[in-house]
Amino acid sequence: MNTNEQGKGILIVLSGFSGAGKGTLVRKLLDTYEEYTLSVSMTTRSPREGEVGGVHYFFTDRAHFEEQIAGNGLVEYAEYCGNYYGTPRAYVEEQLAAGRHVILEIEIQGALQIKKLFPESLLLFVTPPSAAELARRLKGRGTETDEVIAKRLARAGEEAEGIEAYDYIVINDDLDVCVEELHRIVQAAAAAPVRRETFINQIREELKGFAKGE
Ligand code: 5GP
Repeated sequence: MNTNEQGKGILIVLSGFSGAGKGTLVRKLLDTYEEYTLSVSMTTRSPREGEVGGVHYFFTDRAHFEEQIAGNGLVEYAEYCGNYYGTPRAYVEEQLAAGRHVILEIEIQGALQIKKLFPESLLLFVTPPSAAELARRLKGRGTETDEVIAKRLARAGEEAEGIEAYDYIVINDDLDVCVEELHRIVQAAAAAPVRRETFINQIREELKGFAKGE
């Protein structure tokens, strides 16, 4: 398994405009490389056709969601287009400790909370090559009403304001190219000193030994 030197996985936040192709991208990444895992979020939005509880989301009501917030059961949460979305804490902590890279497919308010709580997390923003392409993909999906599409395009405009907060922007034009680029970014990030604490401490100790002539 190709994880970082601490034996701990990287917490990867993947955001992007609704319609940027994040879902397909993540599926391909998970199918191609075994070191990644996806956190399943909790939401109060209704399931779309074909969505399965426990696979795509844990679907719940507002009262239960608010209990989770109060009980510190979520690492982050946000309200998006009138619904709550949040990341359950237990799975994220378990998987990181087991050395897997955990992907959170979340929007920008959640991303900023994660960066604050986990400064060593990696924030990636996925975008289509242009706004026109984004509108085309949203309409082509055929699962949303015109009103929802308009809301999501307006929200994309707001999210574009926050792009600077991310570590990397990934343009999703060709899926295969995009998956490889994402994986390369994660590999490079794993080598940053902030994620190699164990290695740094170990080599410092060894060097002290040499200095003493051991
Ligand atoms: P959708 O309703 O299209 O599945 O998701 C709407 C938005 O909510 C997307 O931008 C998605 O990334 C984001 N989202 C999904 N799960 C979470 C979560 O657990 N926390 C936050 N903050 N956003 C989420």
